[in-house]
Amino acid sequence: MARFGMVIDTRKCVGCQDCVVACQTENQVPQGYCRDWIATEVRGTFPALTMEIRTERCNHCDNPPCVSCCPTGASHVEEFGHTVQVTANKCIGCKACIASCPYDARFVHPQGYVDKCTFCLHRVKEGKDPACVSVCPTHCMYFGDLDDPKSEVNRLLATRKHHTLLPEAGTRPRIFYLT
Ligand code: SF4
Ligand code: SF4
Ligand code: SF4
Repeated sequence: MARFGMVIDTRKCVGCQDCVVACQTENQVPQGYCRDWIATEVRGTFPALTMEIRTERCNHCDNPPCVSCCPTGASHVEEFGHTVQVTANKCIGCKACIASCPYDARFVHPQGYVDKCTFCLHRVKEGKDPACVSVCPTHCMYFGDLDDPKSEVNRLLATRKHHTLLPEAGTRPRIFYLT
């Protein structure tokens, strides 16, 4: 069984927000909310500064605190692709998962349940890439199986420098940023 992840090339991301708009349209994300967003980070000391622009979303962590703290089982690891998902009709809106996520990746949907990136499993099951990946004009996002040694994501991770967000949180995120 696959273990899906994403590799994002920060050298190619231009911060155009097309991924954000594509996600909102594909997943009927209510106005004013988003499952993905653009972050910018300046590193180094003047004058040797570098700026990283990156698209962020739920990291579908291998050690997800949002799942272990959920009192109802609404937040769970889905067998298909080993992704972290929320079953809306099991969610009581207690927000324990929101408090536990170090990435601020979840929000309360106006209908009362918690929502977040699903890795577009409905598209992946049809053999398509997630919506954000498929619209990116610079092709900076790669989606694939981290357990398949021959996958494009693993080829990139083997050949390029990369990092994850807040590794010290111990969640073992599955979105990798190429630098
Ligand atoms: Fe859970 Fe947050 Fe990790 Fe997503 S990024 S799996 S919401 S802890
Ligand atoms: Fe679980 Fe919903 Fe509570 Fe989150 S808000 S911990 S998904 S019941
Ligand atoms: Fe949105 Fe799908 Fe991309 Fe997640 S994978 S950010 S749900 S478009």
